Amino acid sequence: MPTLVELERDALACTRCPLAAGRTNVVFGVGDPDADLMFVGEGPGRDEDLKAEPFVGRSGQFLDRVMLEEMGISRDRGVYIANVVKCRPPGNRDPEPHEIASCRPFLEQQVAIIKPKVIVTLGNFATRLLLDTTEGISKLRGRAYPYGDAVLVPTYHPSAALRSGGAGEVTAGMRADLVRAKEHLC
Ligand code: SF4
Repeated sequence: MPTLVELERDALACTRCPLAAGRTNVVFGVGDPDADLMFVGEGPGRDEDLKAEPFVGRSGQFLDRVMLEEMGISRDRGVYIANVVKCRPPGNRDPEPHEIASCRPFLEQQVAIIKPKVIVTLGNFATRLLLDTTEGISKLRGRAYPYGDAVLVPTYHPSAALRSGGAGEVTAGMRADLVRAKEHLC
């Protein structure tokens, strides 16, 4: 098993899939390497690609807000954040299945090294990948699942909550899921 630093070094040089061609930066992940709580999103957007850090745009600011309000946690302590794919899909399109498959070992090794107690998957791509299902997030959220030694709590992607103004049914569901995730952290 590599260290997180060694794994990141590998990712920064990775050209395993076509997303390598369009990236500004590899967005490996950020946070506490001993985190009990890990968030997994879909892939970097424009802001993330430029800053080499996940969830730094509007979605990230929204995630930070609901994390603080529902869990009393800020991303700078005890949290690690990563994505399914580490390089930005052009024009923020969905990642293709072969791109997800190419990048999957990085995420799986991040989880194995960090050993979080709770993994919150944000949206369809992360949830389907880690639960190995084709079911949609609306059906999957609302409960917790075993994932190795961890507990996996699926919720909506923050961008879905923002599409309804950050105050609709999706946001309410996301808030409830974060409360559920916090219960499993204790
Ligand atoms: S998305 Fe993942 S597999 Fe594809 S080039 Fe980037 S790091 Fe490598």
